Amino acid sequence: MPELPEVETVRQQLKPLIIGKKIVDISIIYDKIIKISNDEFKKKLIHQTFRDISRYGKYLLFELDDYTLVSHLRMEGKYYLRQSINELTKHEHVVFHLSNDMYLTYHDFRKFGTMELVKKGDEFLLDSLKKLGPEVNDTQLIPDRIYPKIKKSSRPIKSLLLDQSIMTGLGNIYVDETLFLAKIHPEKKGHQLSFEEVECILKSAKQVIQKAIDLGGTTIRSYQSTLGVDGRFQNELNVHTLVGKACSVCQEEIIKIKVGGRGTYLCPNCQRKESL
Ligand SMILES: [Zn+2]
Repeated sequence: MPELPEVETVRQQLKPLIIGKKIVDISIIYDKIIKISNDEFKKKLIHQTFRDISRYGKYLLFELDDYTLVSHLRMEGKYYLRQSINELTKHEHVVFHLSNDMYLTYHDFRKFGTMELVKKGDEFLLDSLKKLGPEVNDTQLIPDRIYPKIKKSSRPIKSLLLDQSIMTGLGNIYVDETLFLAKIHPEKKGHQLSFEEVECILKSAKQVIQKAIDLGGTTIRSYQSTLGVDGRFQNELNVHTLVGKACSVCQEEIIKIKVGGRGTYLCPNCQRKESL
């Protein structure tokens, strides 16, 4: 599943390719991805020019002249840039024909992705965006903003970090890596955490996300062939998916448990449960 660093990589790769290009036509092959009627979608977007691409959490925001297309890739969504309509595969569900005769296509094997359209400037009136908390990699985000919500909760920290209304941008992989770095057991409850621990978790999360963005950005050279791949960060994982492997810090075996229904990887020595 693409998480914040992968979506950021998509943003960085797509931006120079489509900015300044006008949409001259749209083909909608599978319309459940689009949250308004096909006619309205086309009417509003055709003749609009891509002005910028921004991102909030895992949402891509394609800013056009008058509207913003808010896209969530969910499990498998990807964008491709095609030179010819003949290159389309059966998993490309929305096709934007651009003024330079290229095709921006939305590819989604699982069809879980969504596209919403709003007037430019109204993005945060959308239900999907307005419920999101501050972004993990926002330089303005300080622990004081998330600590009160964590402190009053009896849910495990793993679940709290996945809760996008408290802070947005961390998915399953990066929460595991963050808690390893912060040396916090994923089952530790919100109210059991000190301010210093939350401070350390936030610092670790920012570090993990930044490193993942840096690696995603440097790996993907050919947009078309590798978009949607995790980049090189999978080589930097300390715990996630590494059950049975030796911890890079203490050599103890990495274990897998379930927390809030999610597969969770940790080092039982570095992330002691005794402190719960
Ligand atoms: Zn360890």
